Amino acid sequence: MAALNISGLSKHFGTTKAVDSATLEIEAGQFVGVIGRSGAGKSTLLRLINRLIDPTEGSVSFDGVDITKLKGKALRQWRRDCAMIFQQFNLVDRLDVITNVLIGRVAEHSILSSTAMRFSDAERAMAAKALDRLDMVPFALQRAGTLSGGQQQRVAIARALVQNPRIMLADEPIASLDPGNATRVMEALRTINEEDKLTVLVNLHTLDTAREYCGRIIAMRQGQVMFDGPAHELTDAV
Ligand code: ADP
Ligand code: ADP
Repeated sequence: MAALNISGLSKHFGTTKAVDSATLEIEAGQFVGVIGRSGAGKSTLLRLINRLIDPTEGSVSFDGVDITKLKGKALRQWRRDCAMIFQQFNLVDRLDVITNVLIGRVAEHSILSSTAMRFSDAERAMAAKALDRLDMVPFALQRAGTLSGGQQQRVAIARALVQNPRIMLADEPIASLDPGNATRVMEALRTINEEDKLTVLVNLHTLDTAREYCGRIIAMRQGQVMFDGPAHELTDAV
């Protein structure tokens, strides 16, 4: 059984078929690059997987559970199980790095009142461990807004890791980074994939990056999967 089974999945926005009858099986531990031009449907595919949006047709199962049918508490848990990494990092600029990493734990408290944020030693240790994997420990007490884009993205990855995700979904995580920072972020994702055996789906708009890091490439065009296979089989014609 594949970790992720996507079957006949479609999402229509009016007459736009953002995702059009996609069928994919993704094995646990794969590092999959999803490529395609802007508007090809990559981000809609990820948002269907984490149930930010519901499909028009089809299903998505994870470890045999149809996640398109989840409701209430089970749905909230699924969203925590999916780590999401975004192009724009989505950190809270005025809060320090460690607070950003642990932000999922303060969601119930007011994040407006900093006095409400008292983390336990265990939580701090967990955050430090995640930050250490991203070489971001020296920045733990710095405000997120003062960091470079590449540093912010590494904090976002640490934030995702402390959720103990079952799958990691990254939507154009390097699109706004310079090449050096892009490499560091891709290397971090690769390390996490290898060490934690975590399944990673990453949307990329450059084929070269996908070829370099992803064992498997899915190419989308106008919502359809045009190619799905090992990087070396993908020709420039796709
Ligand atoms: P990509 O991530 O590959 O750039 P998207 O998944 O963002 O592609 O978009 C696929 C198509 O669906 C595009 O034509 C886009 O304009 C359209 N689309 C995406 N989200 C919405 C939405 N909420 N409402 C209407 N159209 C949307
Ligand atoms: P990405 O670059 O990641 O594909 P987009 O810039 O296409 O993202 O979309 C960003 C947001 O705008 C998403 O929430 C998407 O649903 C929405 N969106 C994209 N295209 C449209 C559209 N044609 N009409 C309405 N909303 C859209």
